[in-house]
Amino acid sequence: MPGIVVVGAQWGDEGKGKVVDVFSSQAELVVRYQGGNNAGHTLVVNGQKTVLHLIPSGILHKKCQCIISGGVVLDPEVLIEEIKALKDKGLLKDPNHLKISDSATLIMPYHKIIDQSREEKLGREKIGTTGRGIGPAYEDRASRKAILFRDLFDSETLKQKLQLALEEKNFLIEHYFRKPTLKLDELHQKYFDFGQILKPFRIEDPGLVVATALSKKKKVLFEGAQGTLLDLNHGTYPYVTSSSTVAGSACTGVGIGPSQINKVIGITKAYTTRVGTGPFPTELNNEVGDLIQKKGAEFGATTGRRRRCGWLDLIALKYAVRVNGITSVALMKLDVLTGLPEIKVATAYDLDGRKITEFPTSADDLERVKPILKSFKGWTKDLSTVRKKSQLPKEARAYVDFIEKFVGVKADIISTGPDREETIWVKPLFKH
Ligand code: GDP
Repeated sequence: MPGIVVVGAQWGDEGKGKVVDVFSSQAELVVRYQGGNNAGHTLVVNGQKTVLHLIPSGILHKKCQCIISGGVVLDPEVLIEEIKALKDKGLLKDPNHLKISDSATLIMPYHKIIDQSREEKLGREKIGTTGRGIGPAYEDRASRKAILFRDLFDSETLKQKLQLALEEKNFLIEHYFRKPTLKLDELHQKYFDFGQILKPFRIEDPGLVVATALSKKKKVLFEGAQGTLLDLNHGTYPYVTSSSTVAGSACTGVGIGPSQINKVIGITKAYTTRVGTGPFPTELNNEVGDLIQKKGAEFGATTGRRRRCGWLDLIALKYAVRVNGITSVALMKLDVLTGLPEIKVATAYDLDGRKITEFPTSADDLERVKPILKSFKGWTKDLSTVRKKSQLPKEARAYVDFIEKFVGVKADIISTGPDREETIWVKPLFKH
């Protein structure tokens, strides 16, 4: 069972980092399939912290090759910083350890200016983007104006493409956003130089590498960023990210077929969080929500923003299981609920007086629903030393059992703390 996708089953920040870290130690290839440098993993190497936004955390494991696929938008400046930070720590000595698709879309300085200026203009109506140019870069991809990673290595092509881009972007920057424009020659030189630094990492067709690895039964982990409900097509549009986050995106982003994927692991917290604006039916605007926020340290890794917290939404999770084809879940942060006398989950919604049991596809409808909640008795026993499901307090077991039954898949992993050891491994990853 070598091809495994790890996908966020909620609004992102589900704790994918921990799961991917552990899995990477067993994988031979780790492939990032979408998103940009709005994801974030904090790695601790020899007591020193390194934050990676683009490079998969598999980079820490010597036997694991990391690939950034063509479905990703990448900021060369950020990538160079991350590579430097790793090299400074004695890591990434061999460029074969990290490969970057020639077809990846570049995030250019004008994308960042446009992203930030748009949010400023929207004021209170803003989408809540991270302002890193990710959305505008994906827009250019769709309108066939993107500058690709391969263009960095051909001075003439780079110049031509930049000239075309700047004609339009500078007009927008100067006359619509009223900001200083960008200069062709400066930009061309800077990005050509970036290309020279990044050249050793280029790869023409990562899809071929991945397909070959899979045909040899090598263990390949596909790592997504953000979560299902932020998917451009299947999330709570328009409060979504600018790429497709669902498991199918591993195929389109990398260039392999759906039959190559053997397992899809959906990462979910034992409760729900959401960053920024947008509907959130089970949100708790009370002291219980505050408690979960504090205990779960629910602040964004990349932005530092306080996350909104609420009960686990099983309607949303059931939807995530369906749209991703999730084969099992990793239930994270169960320990955060310890000590609560009562724990609730949403099992249905009330939409304008009508009971519904499927996730609405319209964000307007989702804004109006009221969750119908089922209550569970809480537990007080510390879970951090529990290593087997049978050792969980019976109330916690009842909670997990109900979730599994409701969404129709098992929890192969139950996480009871941030440490690697604080995990219940119900089933090994790469075996079926
Ligand atoms: P990601 O982007 O999906 O990895 O999500 P975050 O970066 O927000 O990571 C979640 C945070 O929760 C990290 O600081 C983890 O160390 C922490 N974490 C992961 N699993 C658990 C868990 O089971 N319990 C607790 N208390 N913390 C956890």
